[in-house]
Amino acid sequence: MITLPEFYEYDIVALSILIAVTGSYVTLTMNERIVHSIIRGRTNIWLITAALSMGLTIWTLHFVSMMAFSIPIQYNISLTIISMIPAILAAYAAFYILYKTSRRWWTFSAASITISFGSVLMHYIGMMSIIIDSDIIYNPFYRFLAISTAIAASYAAIRFFYYFTQKRDVRLKIIASLLMGTAISGMHYIGMYSADFYVPEGFVIPEQNQSSSDMLVVLILLPAIMIFLFITILSFLDRRTAMQLAYTDDLTNLPNRRSLERFVHARTTPLNLPIAVVIIDIDNFKWINETYGYESGNELIIEFASRLKKAITENSIAARIEGNKFAVAIPGTFSHQEIRTLLTKQFNSYLKLFHAFGEPTPITFSAGVALAPEHGSNCNILILNAERALRHVKNNGKNEIVVYNSNFHNQDMERHIAMSFRSALENGEFYLCYQPKFNLHTGKIDSAEVLVRWESPVHGFVSPSKFIPIAEKNGFIFDLTNWILNEACRQMKMWQRDHHLIERIAVNISAPMFLSDRLIEIVKHTLQTYNLNARHLELEITETSIMQQFDNALKVIDALKKEGVSISLDDFGTGVSSLTYLKMLPIHILKIDKSFIDDVHTSYEDKALVKMIIQLAKLFGLTIIAEGVEKEEQLNVLKELGCDFIQGYFISRPERAEILDARYEQKEYRS
Ligand code: C2E
Ligand code: CA
Ligand code: CA
Repeated sequence: MITLPEFYEYDIVALSILIAVTGSYVTLTMNERIVHSIIRGRTNIWLITAALSMGLTIWTLHFVSMMAFSIPIQYNISLTIISMIPAILAAYAAFYILYKTSRRWWTFSAASITISFGSVLMHYIGMMSIIIDSDIIYNPFYRFLAISTAIAASYAAIRFFYYFTQKRDVRLKIIASLLMGTAISGMHYIGMYSADFYVPEGFVIPEQNQSSSDMLVVLILLPAIMIFLFITILSFLDRRTAMQLAYTDDLTNLPNRRSLERFVHARTTPLNLPIAVVIIDIDNFKWINETYGYESGNELIIEFASRLKKAITENSIAARIEGNKFAVAIPGTFSHQEIRTLLTKQFNSYLKLFHAFGEPTPITFSAGVALAPEHGSNCNILILNAERALRHVKNNGKNEIVVYNSNFHNQDMERHIAMSFRSALENGEFYLCYQPKFNLHTGKIDSAEVLVRWESPVHGFVSPSKFIPIAEKNGFIFDLTNWILNEACRQMKMWQRDHHLIERIAVNISAPMFLSDRLIEIVKHTLQTYNLNARHLELEITETSIMQQFDNALKVIDALKKEGVSISLDDFGTGVSSLTYLKMLPIHILKIDKSFIDDVHTSYEDKALVKMIIQLAKLFGLTIIAEGVEKEEQLNVLKELGCDFIQGYFISRPERAEILDARYEQKEYRS
């Protein structure tokens, strides 16, 4: 027996390694698809294709490398084909372990042992398929080396594979494919090296049969190429459907919100082209859903979507952005009137009568429109403003198409603030400040106005001129004033006990509160709670609240007066009150508005006006307070005109009670 001399044709060896690397690269691409599809729950198809591609790579490598072998070989075709199976199955098992179980070091080990085992099995079945009149003897050391190389290299390659699918870097992908390709080739060639072909002496190496070896090339390469091609096409299609899924709405097949955003963004952000964004909402959809059931609701949405698609012009896009909300984006410049007319025309013929429930169902819808660049030059702002316009329609009777206007933004803001009130009160975000009133006759501070403050963690510091009108509108003013009255009376009681110089506090009362019959009860109850004499409490009301319901106001003032509470008329001069009314009002104090005081020391007219007000008030026996005094010159003029009290930054800003206490303990007040 002699050993056949073995050598390789190196160009074919190189080709085999190239095949191994390319195959690994394709497999890696499949692995990416697996990771992708895990997210969407469609893993199996990608597990199978990845296994096919890996198994075939190992298999092709084996037979191509055999061609590089010095000895011309003939094969048993069935065994050749059967040898494919362990490689593919092992690859499937390895990827299954890798992607369907939790990843630890042992999952990586199990996967690499599995794939190595499959490759080794494939290798030996491949060797068995050789038709040769010789004994193949394996060198145990090299055989062991081949198997360990297989396991170690696949472990490294699999870890790297996995690492790549996490990182998604093309360079890593190439390195991983190189590694995997070399691992498979290395394992194979060491395996081949461990085999020795023993033939009887005088053995004649058969002539290479050209046609049969060509057959083999075709047999091996053609299916391999076809399968790689198939896998690549599949992967491409899957990517496309994934893209499509990401940009279309499942239920209606319309483009989805992301698609709309892409459409608008492409026109607005780089190019600043004009576009109209319309958000449409089916009115009372919740009711439809509840009455007819979700199925019918969905049918209606589908029907609406298909009609909306017909209603729009060619270069526009119609999308479903959520639930029963749709959007249309129409490139072009429009005036407010033009867009409304256009939409009314487009929608009216398509979006009126529906037969979604077997019977004719009149459906109405609301739409909000934002125009670029007028209402925003980026996609997010346009959609936001169109939504604001839509909300405005929804809150004002629905069934209309409205173009955005900046007031809507304020309305949003107001709603937001109004929604925060309750929790603000519960969380102690409100507190009180007291602004001293200075008595010009005694030269002493003897009373103070109570001014509420709101430090919101959400909105920051909100001025009372902003939130009081909102609280008045939404009814929160009742609870708020109740809290203010309580807090102020509690403070006043403490001051009274301490013989503080502030002997009276003035609480501002808003019109709705003043005109409600609850005020007297609340005031009485609060005074009782703190055991406070009514002479320590003053209520400031504005002219406008009195003029709204004069007779009612008269009654309330009378009742309060009977209780012993003083009433002052705030902001005097800014309203429309006539002096005749003033005469009829049983009030005690008149507060001249800051706007008259601002120039009282420089403007002759203002000084004359203030002088007249003071004289008139004196005639009616009223006490006069001037508010908003900021300068000494103003104080001097007011003193000269016979004003009784002044209030303003010149004396003190509104401060927390503790600060006033500290200040007056140090006798830091003016006289
Ligand atoms: P108002 O009742 O006319 O209160 C006077 C406002 O003028 C206060 O503003 C006060 O801080 C400010 N002020 C006082 N002296 C000066 C000055 O010398 N210069 C200037 N520039 N301003 C001065 P504030 O506290 O921001 O309150 C604004 C309005 O909010 C109040 O006008 C009142 O209508 C309302 N408000 C404040 N607190 C309450 C409250 O507790 N209840 C009710 N219903 N309304 C309140
Ligand atoms: Ca006031
Ligand atoms: Ca005032």
